[in-house]
Amino acid sequence: MTSVTTTSSTLTRVQDRALRDRAATVIPGGMYGHVNVVGWSLPSNYPQFFSRSEGDRLWDVDGQSYVDMLCSWGPILLGYADPTVDAAAREQAQQLDAANGTSARMVELAELLVDTVSAADWAMFAKNGNDATTTCCTIARAATGRRKILKAKAAYHGASPAFTPVLGGITPEDRANLIEVTYNDIASFEAAAAEHDGDVAAVILTPFQHDGHVDQELADPAFARAVRELCDRIGAVLILDEVRTGFRLDIRGSWEPLGVRPDLSAFSKALGNGHAISAVTGTDALRDAVGSIFVTGSFWYSAVSMAAAIATITKARDTDVIETMRLRGEQLRAGIATQAATHGVAVSQTGPVQLPLILFPDDDEDLTLGQAFVGAALEGGAYLHPWHNMFLSGAHTEESINQVLAATDLGFTAVRRALERR
Ligand code: PMP
Repeated sequence: MTSVTTTSSTLTRVQDRALRDRAATVIPGGMYGHVNVVGWSLPSNYPQFFSRSEGDRLWDVDGQSYVDMLCSWGPILLGYADPTVDAAAREQAQQLDAANGTSARMVELAELLVDTVSAADWAMFAKNGNDATTTCCTIARAATGRRKILKAKAAYHGASPAFTPVLGGITPEDRANLIEVTYNDIASFEAAAAEHDGDVAAVILTPFQHDGHVDQELADPAFARAVRELCDRIGAVLILDEVRTGFRLDIRGSWEPLGVRPDLSAFSKALGNGHAISAVTGTDALRDAVGSIFVTGSFWYSAVSMAAAIATITKARDTDVIETMRLRGEQLRAGIATQAATHGVAVSQTGPVQLPLILFPDDDEDLTLGQAFVGAALEGGAYLHPWHNMFLSGAHTEESINQVLAATDLGFTAVRRALERR
């Protein structure tokens, strides 16, 4: 997909353009992955490069700032450059980061997670969410001696060959053990389990369905319980992929309110408030399996990100950041609903308010309306995303959400104009 110009922009892109030109020479395509603003359908007024971040604000390389509703795609839980987290990271950096082994921070962080996450009897650490989900699958296969992993269609669990949604460079063998089923449809899980009887190592699920481009869908509690029962019955491992949701919905684990505990959980994003760290937590029954596998990485033991994670989780526990995000998320959702009604535009707001997704249900497959909306909002000083869920952080305030709403009012005007042009 390409980006379209939806507004005549008043934003300056001199530095951004110069960097894009230089990047085009030395970086294939100028940018890759999910931060590629062109490849990932952001409007043409969006910046590709940034220079500063603080609290709930992000500055582009041309010096213009926005209230940020994407939070670095999730990692920013407490706010950019949180002083407590960054002080802990700085202090650790003065002592030790990468070394031949690691520091006491690793044990302290594991103790903190075991104390915080209800289903955790132990923890281990890596860098990215993909490391954690892949490690979960390896542990499950080692524990069961089986091959197949059941996952929901379109669910994203990382960019490894086994999971990536884009199949360039991927062989059928890479995907041979992946079985796709339907979220919230236990019959599809039962059918897959029957078809691969005796060979299902694990079921991997996100706590709610948060695929891009479509309305988010909460887990039906009966479905979550039925998946738990199925895994117990067939001896498969239940993996909860908390990479996107972790510490934003319930600090104890996102399925705690449903009374369903996974065997393994994958965390990353919010764990270090922007510092590179991920974690796998698991139950006692899987300790021996962990002992039988080899997973590691040069930077998996870095003490700075562990110190940052200790500070992040401690502050999240002490300050009830989840409640702050919930209140601000409700403010945003109510404000958007009122504006949609005032402008006479149909809008769909789905998912928990801490991870909001805003879509336009009136025939917006090509994202004309979504791009018009976020493109105009950017001009008004708010950074939104047209098809990926966004993230609240503890740094969002009543005032900054009001600023976002002033910007989305411009967005709705742009959407209404786009609808009138049809
Ligand atoms: N699982 C989920 C649910 C995710 O949202 C993501 C990242 N968006 C991943 C796994 C992969 O994490 P990472 O990009 O850090 O490897």
